[in-house]
Amino acid sequence: MAINVDLKYKTQLKGDRNKFPTLCPFCNHDFNLFDEYGSIFDNAIGFSDTNHGLMMIVECPICFNFNYFHGSGFYDYFLESIEEGTQKFFGRGSGNVL
Ligand SMILES: [Zn+2]
Repeated sequence: MAINVDLKYKTQLKGDRNKFPTLCPFCNHDFNLFDEYGSIFDNAIGFSDTNHGLMMIVECPICFNFNYFHGSGFYDYFLESIEEGTQKFFGRGSGNVL
């Protein structure tokens, strides 16, 4: 089932493919152990359609590198993080909202 990602959440693919979404492939930041930095959904910069499907792109809150992974199962959680106000790049407190 295709997911219609809102255009405002679409972005360019950046960084490295990541097989272990809860770990940053660059600095090994563990999103599950250090939740004060937010979840992978809080740190997602958006979604990108690729030949391999929809990818979610995340900026590491520690080293600021980007990584991406299959995101079609994560879109709802991403939207929830926006509604809850914990999302860093969209919604309340992100600086992107006037
Ligand atoms: Zn990192």
